[in-house]
Amino acid sequence: MKRILVTGGAGFIGSHLCERLLAEKNEVLCVDNFFTGRRTNVAALLANPAFELMRHDVTFPLYVETDEIYNLACPASPVHYQFDPVQTTKTSVHGAINMLGLAKRTRAKIFQASTSEVYGDPAVHPQVESYWGNVNPIGPRACYDEGKRCAETLFFDYFRQHRTRIRVARIFNTYGPRMLPNDGRVVSNFIVQALQGHDITVYGKGDQTRSFCYVDDLIEGFVRLMAATDAVTGPMNLGNPVENTILELAEKIIKLAKSSSKIIHKPLPQDDPTRRKPDISQARDTLKWEPKMALDEGLARTVHYFRGLLAA
Ligand code: NAD
Ligand code: UDP
Repeated sequence: MKRILVTGGAGFIGSHLCERLLAEKNEVLCVDNFFTGRRTNVAALLANPAFELMRHDVTFPLYVETDEIYNLACPASPVHYQFDPVQTTKTSVHGAINMLGLAKRTRAKIFQASTSEVYGDPAVHPQVESYWGNVNPIGPRACYDEGKRCAETLFFDYFRQHRTRIRVARIFNTYGPRMLPNDGRVVSNFIVQALQGHDITVYGKGDQTRSFCYVDDLIEGFVRLMAATDAVTGPMNLGNPVENTILELAEKIIKLAKSSSKIIHKPLPQDDPTRRKPDISQARDTLKWEPKMALDEGLARTVHYFRGLLAA
């Protein structure tokens, strides 16, 4: 039985990861400050004696014993990470230093939830891991983008300097049950709007693109990357390479939710990336991993989740 620490474990992706790790008979310590995470996300796991939930902010040191660390703590929605941008950078940077220090002392393997945002508004399409990105260092998204970029720097310096066993995943837009209804991200926004019969708010013309990965597929990628040999450090893109415009996504969701909502247009936020699609050749070759869930099916499941949540 491995002892596995998941920071940000009460969040959207973190709660699915805790569930999966427990199902594989590991001991899981879930650490979260509940900024965007919810106890309800892990409520069903509390009865399992192999699961422990701890309120803790990763910007402060943590002294526990562990074999593996998944470092997910960080708000991921632009609305939430821009709410207190200084805290967002601290979470990424101080959080990485604290968790890497813990990995060094315990000789644990450590996984970093990095992001496609390290590519900024990419000039290379689709995005390959060797691309260094196009990030505005002083814009409203910089607290997140540069925080995550600095975290990657720290991971690779710990790897070179201390031989820490690292895994860095660059996650592309992921969706599924347990996203917050007021999360601000596009999938949850559109589904909640469609189910409530409100206007669907497409920012800009809606011709910007994203590639959406269902959460179960992503978790499979996490587990495979962690299990790979220590030579596989990443950074490795994990995401679904099927690209859609935001307008296409809005139309799909209206149809799937059988909604009468109308599409309206709102101003495009500053520095909103124009297009995004992962090149996943590295994950395909090294992990034999690729997403399985088609967008329509994944969205239908997510609509079903939100329908239940909003009715409760
Ligand atoms: P989320 O907001 O649901 O989860 C983040 C979790 O971290 C929450 O439970 C939150 O309370 C916790 N947290 C925030 N600051 C903390 C702190 N200082 N100390 C302890 N806990 C803290 O978001 P998510 O979508 O589940 O994202 C999880 C990770 O994956 C994040 O690191 C995010 O940057 C990364 N990621 C997600 C996506 C995506 O599309 N969902 C894409 C790229 C990267
Ligand atoms: N978006 C939108 N309407 C919304 C929320 C988001 O049109 O109500 C757009 C947003 O401008 C971006 C895309 O959807 O182009 C994805 O936004 P999200 O916040 O989900 O994630 P991002 O990939 O930008 O971090």
